[in-house]
Amino acid sequence: MIIVIKNEKKNELEKLIKWIKNQGLDIHMSEGANATIVGLIGDTSKIDIDLISSLDIVESVKRISEPYKKVNRKFHPADTVISAGGREIGGGRFCFIAGPCSVENEEQIVGIALAVKKSGAHFLRGGAFKPRTSPYAFQGMGADGIELLKKAKKKSGLGIVTEIMNINHLDLFSDVDIIQVGARNMQNFDLLKELGQSKKPILLKRGLSGTIEEWLMSAEYVMSKGNENVILCERGIRTFEHYTRNTLDLSAIPLVKELTHLPVIVDPSHASGLSRLVRPMSLAATAAGSDGLIIEVHNDPPRALCDGAQSIRPEQFDELVKKIKDILPIVDKRL
Ligand code: PEP
Ligand code: MN
Repeated sequence: MIIVIKNEKKNELEKLIKWIKNQGLDIHMSEGANATIVGLIGDTSKIDIDLISSLDIVESVKRISEPYKKVNRKFHPADTVISAGGREIGGGRFCFIAGPCSVENEEQIVGIALAVKKSGAHFLRGGAFKPRTSPYAFQGMGADGIELLKKAKKKSGLGIVTEIMNINHLDLFSDVDIIQVGARNMQNFDLLKELGQSKKPILLKRGLSGTIEEWLMSAEYVMSKGNENVILCERGIRTFEHYTRNTLDLSAIPLVKELTHLPVIVDPSHASGLSRLVRPMSLAATAAGSDGLIIEVHNDPPRALCDGAQSIRPEQFDELVKKIKDILPIVDKRL
């Protein structure tokens, strides 16, 4: 349920908030230029809408039928802008996250970091803990990989984005700017709850077969524990199509931006699995309203330890950034 407060009466809110809390409900406040909105969280079935509507300070009251509340744009009409690594994400700011699927060695990660930085990337990606389908495939460098990411951050000035698989590793992530929750962990509710206790920005990927509502409920898990810094990432979903690794759900971008106030970015690399599709899918995602892109870039894709087939080279990334910059003014975005 949301209660819209008359602008001239917002100083008289205290009594109402106290009353709501006494009913065993939590509140979520959103103070915009035109309206103050009090969101009620919990079982509101016993709240008498007519009683609240009749209060002098209340403009209107609405029940929210969606199961996600804090994530819901009805609770928070303005775009959420997230600060990470000294940069803003969302609210019209477009960001580029680029780097290899996995951190492989110092030369590789530092070299790619410097190259993508020169092309205009804002963050370096690179997996240290890798969720691989096969237990025999390269599992990532683990803690050593995080150390190398920190070196690359120091040398390039880029913020770093890397995936967490186990909450016991959280201490290793203290210098990480954005913690990625991978597609396979979208519904690891214990992990989401723990990350909700942290203040670090969370990049929440859509699950392989996650519906939009399930994805938003996962974001709600993080936000319900107090961490409001959630960035959603559409990375393709599993369909019957096998020519691509996944199917990029472009329609999810404008739809999710309508349903929530959170930034939404797109991963064209995992969505297609094919390096030659990264450019057209990046352009399409930007045109559809994405707030940024996370792209796999490798200096030597045929020899990459993970996801070489979908990785583009630094020169291709450079060319892609230039093209995207041409589109941004058309979709009212800026870097
Ligand atoms: C990744 O970003 O390398 C990754 C494993 O992504 P996803 O969780 O989307 O498959
Ligand atoms: Mn990958």
